[in-house]
Amino acid sequence: MKNINIYIAAAALPLVQFRHRFSSSPLPKPEPYVGPLPSATPPKEMAVFALVTGVTQRSAAFGYRGGSFFERRDFAMAGTFVKHPQGDLLIDTGFGRNINEQFRSMPLLFRAMTFYKLWRPAVDQLKAAGYDQESLRAILLTHAHWDHVSGLPDFPGVPVWVTPQERRFIRKGGSGQFSKPFTGIRYEEYGFEGGPYLGFPGSHDVYGDGAIVVVPAPGHTPGGVIIFLTLHSGTCYALVGDLVWQLEGITLREERPWITRKFADWDAKGTRENLLRIIALKERLPDLITVPAHDMRGFAGMPALSPVHSV
Ligand SMILES: [Zn+2]
Repeated sequence: MKNINIYIAAAALPLVQFRHRFSSSPLPKPEPYVGPLPSATPPKEMAVFALVTGVTQRSAAFGYRGGSFFERRDFAMAGTFVKHPQGDLLIDTGFGRNINEQFRSMPLLFRAMTFYKLWRPAVDQLKAAGYDQESLRAILLTHAHWDHVSGLPDFPGVPVWVTPQERRFIRKGGSGQFSKPFTGIRYEEYGFEGGPYLGFPGSHDVYGDGAIVVVPAPGHTPGGVIIFLTLHSGTCYALVGDLVWQLEGITLREERPWITRKFADWDAKGTRENLLRIIALKERLPDLITVPAHDMRGFAGMPALSPVHSV
């Protein structure tokens, strides 16, 4: 009998360990950010719109440690449209028109575990709102994973802004990217010539008015970034890309569980460092709206682009 119990315990151990890797384990609370707050003079005409293009359906347990296996969530697949008098930007594309065909190029196991729904690609949402895509200055990527770049071919000729590190990552391919690389994309590289910004070591102020500021956030991918958008009203968004998949990553300081960190992150330690920076910043600036690229609640606070909006 004793032996049987040992066998049962031995068989159950991996299960217990597996469950443990998904259980709540908040990161230690960092001290609030104490550095200087940057000034910004955003133009009155600047506006920000959410473009949710579809969803993937996953259990909350895969989004953050402590999430329930039984809670099914819609993970947003989205872009953010920024109107700015010096040039409009699309930040990430979410799902594009060719997502079904693109998805077929992904590894079999990934496809077997991923369920998605295409709602409406960004290009069609912009068109329905009467927007002339010729006016689009560039597409700025938080990072180059499949679900953030799928719509790039829908915007032929529009420059795609990436860091040199992310450009190398794209050239190398693999790791969360479509197996078949896009051709004919006009990538343009930018650097972080600006000084430290809100706790991050460098910055790129897109139009020099402090309205759209990009900071380096390597970890999830080698050249991933976080984008701060400051409106004339003072509303400030931090588009944190896939730093976390769900808001609990920030509000409860719960990282992605080990298995998803291992497979989704290029450097999980880097991701954690940047996550702690954002948490420290939220301690100082509670009104900062953090928008993880896959959290529907992050986009719910942003106006949606629809035919009723004249752009
Ligand atoms: Zn990603």
